Amino acid sequence: MKKRKTKLVWLTAAVIAAALALCACSGQGEAADEKKAAQKEAPVSGDTEVDYMVLVNFENPLPDDWLDRVKFHAGINSVGDDVFTETGAHDAYLKLKDDVEKELSDRKVTLELDSAYRSEAAQQKIVDEFTEKYGEEYVKKYVAAPGYSEHHTGLALDLYFIVGDKTVYENEDLVQYPEIWEVIHKRLPEYGFILRYPEGREDITGANYEPWHIRYVGSPETAKDITEKGLTLEEYLADKK
Ligand SMILES: [Zn+2]
Repeated sequence: MKKRKTKLVWLTAAVIAAALALCACSGQGEAADEKKAAQKEAPVSGDTEVDYMVLVNFENPLPDDWLDRVKFHAGINSVGDDVFTETGAHDAYLKLKDDVEKELSDRKVTLELDSAYRSEAAQQKIVDEFTEKYGEEYVKKYVAAPGYSEHHTGLALDLYFIVGDKTVYENEDLVQYPEIWEVIHKRLPEYGFILRYPEGREDITGANYEPWHIRYVGSPETAKDITEKGLTLEEYLADKK
């Protein structure tokens, strides 16, 4: 999907093919390149204790000393993007991946990480891109301002998958596989993850339903408690106070 198309070798067709290739990928290619550049800004790993219950949303910014605390795992996904994930979240993800792939082995599903940690500069690029595409109103409502995205923590992971030899990567394609999401979502709490932006809870989370966006909360006990009670992270933390 992110790979460049092979150009035709014969002369006349080559001109047409080159023009077509440019047209077809300009939108998606630009977005992908921006995303790739943004994710390349490797965070510096800290070494103190991580608050796995940190709340970062439209109202709560990333704590100032966050990046001094967190240790990151650096990886590369199947489309060649760098992905930085908080180490505890990454260990848990590998176990989740292993289990999901076993359960879906008859469909040859491979689980992949799209993006995890995102810098504030990367979030600004997303805001700019979406403002241009969808307007300011939309962005105010649905896109987190820099400093207010859960992706700054390294604890939020966006998943995608490969089914057989087909990479399912774009959001509009990912939503076409509810049966795969069902298997993934069912297993999340066992490894300390919750589905962060569930359907029908948009008024509380401030985010649209995102089947791919999962959040590590530090332990299976906590993840199970949140999930069994049917709460969002916002509600769970408010109850604890
Ligand atoms: Zn996300």
